[in-house]
Amino acid sequence: MALYEYVCRTHGAFEILRRLGEAPPDAACPVCGGAGARVISAPALVTGRRAAVFAAMDGAEKSRHEPAVVTSLPPSGAPRRQVRMTPELWTLPRP
Ligand SMILES: [Zn+2]
Repeated sequence: MALYEYVCRTHGAFEILRRLGEAPPDAACPVCGGAGARVISAPALVTGRRAAVFAAMDGAEKSRHEPAVVTSLPPSGAPRRQVRMTPELWTLPRP
């Protein structure tokens, strides 16, 4: 995901978030809905908390199309997660 910068002639600069390479040449201003023209600017270095937010967004986007699938049981020495059994969980099939 990348932030793309646009400028509305009335309300100034605004940003939209799109996948890399999918930025439209103009975007609707969030204030007036008018067309804002794309502005090409130097890329910003993403560090710290903002980097974590982008990493989380990229992970969420990736999991939408490439969900991680568990194909085997964890090793016998791995710590077990405790799950509080509810009536709904008792209805699930057992291995
Ligand atoms: Zn505007």
